[in-house]
Amino acid sequence: MSWNERQRAMLEAMGLKLWTPVVVEAPLIESDVAVAEAPAPPAPPAPPRVVAAPARPPIAAPAPARAVAPVTAAAAVDAALAQARGVARETIARLDWPGLRDEVAACRACSLCESRKNTVFGVGNERAHWMVVGEAPGEQEDLQGEPFVGAAGKLLDSMLRAVGLSRGEGTPERQVYIANTLKCRPPRNRNPDPSELAQCEPFLQRQIELIQPRIILAMGRFAVQQLLRSQEPIGKLRGRVHRYQGVPLVVTYHPAYLLRNLPDKARAWEDLCLALKTLEESPPRDESAAPGATPSTAGTD
Ligand code: SF4
Repeated sequence: MSWNERQRAMLEAMGLKLWTPVVVEAPLIESDVAVAEAPAPPAPPAPPRVVAAPARPPIAAPAPARAVAPVTAAAAVDAALAQARGVARETIARLDWPGLRDEVAACRACSLCESRKNTVFGVGNERAHWMVVGEAPGEQEDLQGEPFVGAAGKLLDSMLRAVGLSRGEGTPERQVYIANTLKCRPPRNRNPDPSELAQCEPFLQRQIELIQPRIILAMGRFAVQQLLRSQEPIGKLRGRVHRYQGVPLVVTYHPAYLLRNLPDKARAWEDLCLALKTLEESPPRDESAAPGATPSTAGTD
């Protein structure tokens, strides 16, 4: 190998002595083959000379690496979401409630379909003014096919009742619709994978389009970070009003977390009050607009 002027200068600057082979007829070793850049032109036959195998030269500074764009988690999410949009989202965005339910029940778009017992679609009034968005089904949700059951579900019901809301009774103003960002349970309740969340999000987006809630209460880190395209912790995102698909969104803790961290219940109460105040100050919904009549390109704003 011969060094160009720049490489020579770099080697000398690094204190490395240049080694200049006189004659090299030693057979290539495997690693040499691996780094060979191009077959050398056929050399004129030379009389065989026996020389001692030279010591390997100092390793030169590596050639500049090809620039590769860093693949961030956000980029992976956007790529998966784009794929979902390109392949299935357009279909999902036109579905009515029965079609959407069927599509979720049959979905095998990510590996979570392998281990689920049931898909967990959502529950509540399909014209509710409030929408609660959680993270992913747990064991009981997977078994029963309903979100927020068990101890966390009971706490959520108590929280809702405290501001006059219910998942099962009342007018749309007083009822909530509850759904998760993931419709299938991750095995052993592991953390959701960003690509799974992105793959599943078009279902939630369509639910929101159909319901047209006036306020969204997002519960838990994975739901919040997915909806807001943020890596910030809940503690930094709560206390102010965000938007998702144009709908005001308030961030709060997941009831399962609150069961283990009782002091944060006071903060969750503040979040509920913020959601209530935001809804009271927002303009009334146009009830004449047929739900889901105009599929839109959904996303955060
Ligand atoms: S988690 Fe969502 S995207 Fe994955 S299989 Fe279930 S419904 Fe489909």
